[in-house]
Amino acid sequence: MNNKIRVRIAPSPTGFMHIGTARTALFNWMFAKQHNGAFLLRIEDTDKDRSKKEFEDDIIKNLAWLGLEHDEFYRQSEHIENHTVNLKKLLDSNKAFWCAHTIKELEIEAEQQRAAKEPPRHICEHRDIGRTDGIIRLRNDATDSIVINDMIRGDITYDPRLFGDISLAKNISEPLYNFVVTVDDFDAKISHVIRGEDHITNTPKQILIGRALGFSEPMWAHLPLLLAKDRTKLSKRNGGLSVGDCRESGYIREAIINFIALLGWHPKDEIGEVLDLETITKEFDITRAQRGGAIVDTEKLDWLNREHIKRLPPDEQIKIAEPFISADLKKQIESRVDKYISAVMPRITKLTEINAAIKSIIDIPEYNADLLLWKGKIDRIKAKEILESILSDITDIETADVSLASLIKKEGTGPVLWPLRVSLSGNAISPSPYELLYALGLDEARARVRIAISKLDA
Ligand SMILES: [Zn+2]
Repeated sequence: MNNKIRVRIAPSPTGFMHIGTARTALFNWMFAKQHNGAFLLRIEDTDKDRSKKEFEDDIIKNLAWLGLEHDEFYRQSEHIENHTVNLKKLLDSNKAFWCAHTIKELEIEAEQQRAAKEPPRHICEHRDIGRTDGIIRLRNDATDSIVINDMIRGDITYDPRLFGDISLAKNISEPLYNFVVTVDDFDAKISHVIRGEDHITNTPKQILIGRALGFSEPMWAHLPLLLAKDRTKLSKRNGGLSVGDCRESGYIREAIINFIALLGWHPKDEIGEVLDLETITKEFDITRAQRGGAIVDTEKLDWLNREHIKRLPPDEQIKIAEPFISADLKKQIESRVDKYISAVMPRITKLTEINAAIKSIIDIPEYNADLLLWKGKIDRIKAKEILESILSDITDIETADVSLASLIKKEGTGPVLWPLRVSLSGNAISPSPYELLYALGLDEARARVRIAISKLDA
């Protein structure tokens, strides 16, 4: 017996990869890693009209970017022959049959069932008449309850009579969703199906199909639905972001991984919420995933992005920020690109803000000399004296902090750093004066301090 853990995600390439798909991918990937198992990517591309290569590429690219590499890759369309073989097997053994009822007839039946307050389902009288037209259905005679033993939700019980004769295929070479998924999961030896709660009503149907085919049943886990902040269904307008959108708007991979990990799972209190993939994988326990819907709160994503940017080593910060700087700005700051990045990074939420942040240092606003006076506690004469000391003391950016430290010792922190900050930035709120000195360089910094002194003279 092969006990190897094998899990999969099975996205349709009919749109750009959504954070919900990324969340399912992460939970599967972590489960595989924890059990030394395999993580499979299966592209469900049997809907030829809606499936596009562009979307398949987007899924592959974003999974790789997130660091969720797959061990095996399948395209569903490459397995059509196997689907047909399994359909024939069911037809030959009389476990499936052709149903030639028209859509109109099925609608009338459903209408009558609704009127009688019965669940809509099709119990077909074509079962035994040996037709070979229409669609293919599973003969569903099951009466014993189907119990889904869900790793997150515990036992979920269904009455199999609710489903009637389940549709399997439009014809022998066009199988339908639940049939294809069941066959593909079995073929790929999937041991655990971990997917969104939106699939939960498919699960008993897939169990019935699997039983008819004599397949062993995988373990199940249904992850909580993703909801907007107002607890409504997630859409593009209320936080339903694609991974590509997130990446392009300057969220970093560490933050997105952390964010999606928290969509349905909570770490132990003592380790906090800002976590890297390694720690999350170590701490993650699928059986402790939440059952209720998980709220997608982009403000939390913003916070996590800031926290993760801060935790990156300086050279890594520069590496991730540089692609976001416009060509014009790069030309303008040339060799000082790294220094400007380092100066503004602690205040950045998304990397797309970096151009504006750097420009705000370069283009100093017009300011009033009174802004230079720290809390009104130093007068113009004192402020001028301090700025002049700074001018004479700081002769090298590399030792500026040492020079400032001795001046601070003499005059106090606020009286020294405040006028320096305002001189360098023209603002009350800015990166720290140390970072500004480093970004601007000695010549520009000195020029700005001289302007401040001239303002105090005026
Ligand atoms: Zn029928």
